[in-house]
Amino acid sequence: MDGDRPRVVARDERPTPHGAMPVGSERAAWSADAIVAAIAASARASLAAARLRTADLEAAGCSSPGPLDHLTGVVHETPNLAGFRETPLAAMLSSALDGVRVFVDRDTCMAAIAEGLAGAARGARDYVYVTVSTGIGGGVVSGGRMLRGATNTAGEIGHWPVAFAADASRPADDGLPRCGCGSFGCAESLAAGGNMAEAFGVRDAEEVYAAAVRGDARASAIVTRAERALANLAVGLANVLNPAVIVVGGSVAEHQPAHVLEPMRRAIAERAFRAPANAVRVVPAALGADVGTIGAVLEAGERASGGGDWFL
Ligand SMILES: [Zn+2]
Repeated sequence: MDGDRPRVVARDERPTPHGAMPVGSERAAWSADAIVAAIAASARASLAAARLRTADLEAAGCSSPGPLDHLTGVVHETPNLAGFRETPLAAMLSSALDGVRVFVDRDTCMAAIAEGLAGAARGARDYVYVTVSTGIGGGVVSGGRMLRGATNTAGEIGHWPVAFAADASRPADDGLPRCGCGSFGCAESLAAGGNMAEAFGVRDAEEVYAAAVRGDARASAIVTRAERALANLAVGLANVLNPAVIVVGGSVAEHQPAHVLEPMRRAIAERAFRAPANAVRVVPAALGADVGTIGAVLEAGERASGGGDWFL
């Protein structure tokens, strides 16, 4: 593992194209083509700004929502973005960029790689990256290797079920919001910023936290429920994976550490087994909003040069 943070020589940012509507909007149009075209246009704009051409590139990295297969570059589905279903994203992007080799991986795996190589988990062989943002996701590195699972979809931490109706006379999902993945009780459905905002009927989770501070009982209940979900998630991570570091990133974690990192730390201290509780540090992410980009560049660089065995 080499530990240098890549230098940004140019950047281009643009919104997801119109037509790529979130799941739940009235018509989810097929939009993978439009999104790939926008990514390629954005890449070309960055290259132009850096006075480079596609022919100058060794490889390109693309951080995508998943679940997906990072070896084939096929995106299986994207619960929060319509239009992707068994979509060969790496191949489509490669052909849109004059045949440049494109390496696709799940956004949170790339973030985990970045935090491990150049961020808050640098040097750790056992760590978990968790992002608490619009959604919740993550990546798991165990014994110096990224956990990939049987179908390369492991590490979907946001869909770890942390809640159910305890009353056996009621359905197990009674009173719980349905998760975008189709299941119920997922950490994401209770503690992700987008889901908290939706539960309160506002656009942004920050409005929920602000209302809770003002004493709004409904907002306070949503915040408490989110904290409990994150607490259960943290105890599960500590007991099951025994990480040395849990790196917590994402916009909600960054703005509300007292409601995200603190409940995780408290729950581990109070309820996890002693040995893993004493061994783990719950720390904020170090690479900020660029973490996915940095991870994409680091991963593409390693894979293009035949390396990256530890995360493949
Ligand atoms: Zn889910």
